[in-house]
Amino acid sequence: MLCKCGQEAGESQFVSFEYAGLKFSHMAKDSNTCLECLKKEKAAIFEKYGRDVVFIKDGRIKVKWELFKEYPFGDEAEISKRNRYTRILEWLSILSTRRSGNFVFEPDHLNIRIAYTAKYAFMRLADAIEYGRLVCANRPENWVINLVFEKTLLSKEGVLGLT
Ligand SMILES: [Zn+2]
Repeated sequence: MLCKCGQEAGESQFVSFEYAGLKFSHMAKDSNTCLECLKKEKAAIFEKYGRDVVFIKDGRIKVKWELFKEYPFGDEAEISKRNRYTRILEWLSILSTRRSGNFVFEPDHLNIRIAYTAKYAFMRLADAIEYGRLVCANRPENWVINLVFEKTLLSKEGVLGLT
């Protein structure tokens, strides 16, 4: 099948590529779109939203978790922007819908989600800790960060440095 650009689109598959010094992983490519057009499409979304939410510091991707501070059931524009941020963090292997081996908050409603469908786990403990500090510190719940299917890792007090 031909892509809209006139090139052979190639089969549908998951692809990875680099853009702006970042690795975009497990990107779903369909059989109507060539890899170059997929890259362009994702790069445009990254330029519009991604640069608000991630930056590179000392060679590591850092996330502005404070953007996730407001409870996501607010105005539609805010929700859709946050959903974009979430998807971009998934592309960059910072968040994952796979829980096993990744880090999640308990209680569960503190985790990042897109509407009623996908719920996300943190792939790096450092991000979970920062999210805990920036987003969950003032929550009344006594939360913990769990490495899924392992023992409890960090308590709220531990993360906030109260003990
Ligand atoms: Zn194309």
